[in-house]
Amino acid sequence: MADLDVTPDVTARPLGDPLVVLSHVNKHFGDLHVLKDIDLTVHRGEVVVVIGPSGSGKSTLCRTINRLETIDSGTIRIDGTELPEEGKALARLRADVGMVFQSFNLFAHKSVLENVTLGPTKVKGMSRADARTKATSLLERVGVGNQADKLPAQLSGGQQQRVAIARALAMDPQVMLFDEPTSALDPEMINEVLDVMVSLAREGMTMIVVTHEMGFARRAAHRVVFMDGGQIVEEADPETFFTAPRSDRARDFLSKIL
Ligand code: ADP
Ligand code: MG
Repeated sequence: MADLDVTPDVTARPLGDPLVVLSHVNKHFGDLHVLKDIDLTVHRGEVVVVIGPSGSGKSTLCRTINRLETIDSGTIRIDGTELPEEGKALARLRADVGMVFQSFNLFAHKSVLENVTLGPTKVKGMSRADARTKATSLLERVGVGNQADKLPAQLSGGQQQRVAIARALAMDPQVMLFDEPTSALDPEMINEVLDVMVSLAREGMTMIVVTHEMGFARRAAHRVVFMDGGQIVEEADPETFFTAPRSDRARDFLSKIL
């Protein structure tokens, strides 16, 4: 795991070409218009933090990006390719998008190591031996190398979430989505997960992170996207957003969480 490093040089790197491009994306749940004409471009190497009130559509946004949810109109492209509706092509493209949820979602009856080897062997056809080697090094990297043979329930929440990150990384994703990855954790475990995420950002991983952890946004984000009522209301670099939000809705939201 990375040393705690508060230098803001993550955001000093030049960004690459557009990697995730949402264009005029609309999504309804019945009568509820949950995503309203969303346009969002995330560049290679960029870290975007998405914040906003509960129910504003942040999770739905994440879930549409890897087709856990369908969209009603608009397009979502990953590395230039629109996600297919289903089938093998979807499974392959989904592997490009790693996802980490609030509630770790590890396979309870498989060891930590198996949780990380399963995707590469089943979806990518990697040999068991290669998958184990890769998983072992990823588990080391997130600081849980000595927990490989345990079951998820034998680990702390912070350790489980770091396993979930390793599991997502095992698929060699082009972009990582995090949906409130620390909000189910006891306070003392939040930083061990955020530190792993900051180190990923420093290594140049493209990341979309739903979080209210301002510290993370300040340390690692190029851009903060503020959502409310299914819309992107405002976006800015973290310093500008937190110190000088432009919209009333963002000001109101910040006054409640800061
Ligand atoms: P956030 O993550 O910002 O809290 P969500 O994306 O989870 O917001 O939810 C946005 C809105 O969509 C909320 O009003 C929520 O109740 C609704 N919603 C989310 N998922 C579903 C679903 N599967 N069926 C119906 N409504 C949903
Ligand atoms: Mg949510």
